[in-house]
Amino acid sequence: MLLSIKEMEVRKIAFAETWQPGELDLDLDSAGVHQLGPLRAEGEAELLPHSGEEVRVHGKVETVLGTECDRCLGQAKFPVSAAFDLFYRPADPDVAVEETAIDEGEAEMGFYELPGLVLEDILREQLLLQLPMQRVCSDSCKGICPVCGVNRNEAECGCEAVRAQSTDERWKALQSLKVQ
Ligand SMILES: [Zn+2]
Ligand SMILES: [Zn+2]
Repeated sequence: MLLSIKEMEVRKIAFAETWQPGELDLDLDSAGVHQLGPLRAEGEAELLPHSGEEVRVHGKVETVLGTECDRCLGQAKFPVSAAFDLFYRPADPDVAVEETAIDEGEAEMGFYELPGLVLEDILREQLLLQLPMQRVCSDSCKGICPVCGVNRNEAECGCEAVRAQSTDERWKALQSLKVQ
């Protein structure tokens, strides 16, 4: 959905919609993320009256996201809800991006180019920001056995027991050498 600057010159743009998984392409796949539940977004986009060119987009977005579990590679689920209040101004082609980024006072300021802002891009960024650094299916996930590759949430492979046993046998062999 285009948040058109031209339209904002006439009126605020309000959005309030719900998309089922697959109905809205947010390109989450490229970040290893999937939409698992309905995605609800609502808010408003407007040109700030005092500047005439600065845009404010505020609202909230919520859904359930799925990723691969960092430990067991099964599915990890994250209900996410983000409220956002973002400001954008026209991209100035004469100003290098690097120079602008250094100015700390403007760190929270984004840029737009005509015809306007793409709502999907905004929602994607806001949703991905909500995901935790460590993405696990549950805090108690036991992960994958590094020896045999079994998912230890689903089966008890006994690898650690075998390893401990073989250490015992080596000790016994060593001890019997000393005795001789
Ligand atoms: Zn897991
Ligand atoms: Zn194992």
